[in-house]
Amino acid sequence: MEYREMGGKRVSLLGFGCMRFPEKRSRIDEDAAASMLEAAYAGGVNYFDTAWVYHNDRSEDFVGRFLSSKPRDSFFVATKLPCWLVKKPADAERIFAEQLRRLRVDRIDFYLLHALNAHSWDEMERLGVVDVLARLKESGSIGQLGFSFHDGYPTFERIIRARPWDFCQIQYNYMDVDYQAGRAGYELARALGVPVIVMEPLRGGSLARLPKSVTGPFRSLTPDASDASWAFRWLAGQDGIRVVLSGMSSADQVAENLRVFDKPAALSARELAAFDEVAVEIRSRVRNRCTGCGYCMPCPSGVAIPWNFAVWNGWGMYENAGEARWNWHNKDFADRRADRCVSCGQCVPKCPQGIDIPADLARARAELDGIKRTRRV
Ligand code: SF4
Ligand code: SF4
Repeated sequence: MEYREMGGKRVSLLGFGCMRFPEKRSRIDEDAAASMLEAAYAGGVNYFDTAWVYHNDRSEDFVGRFLSSKPRDSFFVATKLPCWLVKKPADAERIFAEQLRRLRVDRIDFYLLHALNAHSWDEMERLGVVDVLARLKESGSIGQLGFSFHDGYPTFERIIRARPWDFCQIQYNYMDVDYQAGRAGYELARALGVPVIVMEPLRGGSLARLPKSVTGPFRSLTPDASDASWAFRWLAGQDGIRVVLSGMSSADQVAENLRVFDKPAALSARELAAFDEVAVEIRSRVRNRCTGCGYCMPCPSGVAIPWNFAVWNGWGMYENAGEARWNWHNKDFADRRADRCVSCGQCVPKCPQGIDIPADLARARAELDGIKRTRRV
């Protein structure tokens, strides 16, 4: 296992993301998940990342029970404050105390404000929650204080410059260099000396099972290397990254990841070029040219036009049926799906890409409705 330094701690480059354990009847399959954690721990993983909400609020307790069997100085546990549940500073204190209890520790080694965006950051500042967490750090109950992030780069810059963070956690992979914080965010964190933890290194599993038609550049260089190993090596080659979180959901994934992170080989110039070629191939598979600019919005019928096209284009690029179905049937978007479109045509002249929006919404709907049920990856 490769290790990197983060705030004076020696953390494993592979971190165990505890949000995709195997399940049985909608509960964590504890026997299978404990075996996976045990294998990862034995293989040198010492960073375990959970959150209040993972597995319907059950991940922390399960991970806490597993870690309580290990010497306290042999692992680091990370968890997150569910900012959306915090309405006053006392809520943050109450939730934190409960997390200590669930995790069976008296210190959270790495504590994050969960999924910050412009709105939640403003709320956390307004409520003084960051001050509460800073005091918990001063008292030793928090080892290092950071945040995970889901919003655009300008917001990332605003947050990371707001205070001296110990670390940040961003979605980053070779296909998301221009998404959310992206490469610019990574470079800014590096320039500010803020260690980066990466989440979604495989883009929800999509980069682990690429359509065969796009992987020629990888296969021609290393015929037997998995798609996932390519994605991981791309991250391992960047020294600002201290932990790559993988939400492993099977023993096979644990075994393969341990192999990849044992000694991740540096990328050659030809290999780096292969990423560019594969990315071009993947992007060429989009269904339409929607950039997500939102100029077509609002739709009088409530259709979330950019979201519908993002799901459709994601399906086109990655053929990840599990992810596409999960997105398409996301109940939060049930009343904003393409089936609400009444073809009034109001949005069409507003689209700078010249997309025939009602026609493409109909195509998206037909295609996404037809995806066969499969396990979410
Ligand atoms: S054509 Fe469809 S998506 Fe466009 S504004 Fe009308 S109802 Fe909304
Ligand atoms: S205006 Fe066109 S490109 Fe922009 S979000 Fe709407 S459909 Fe996509």
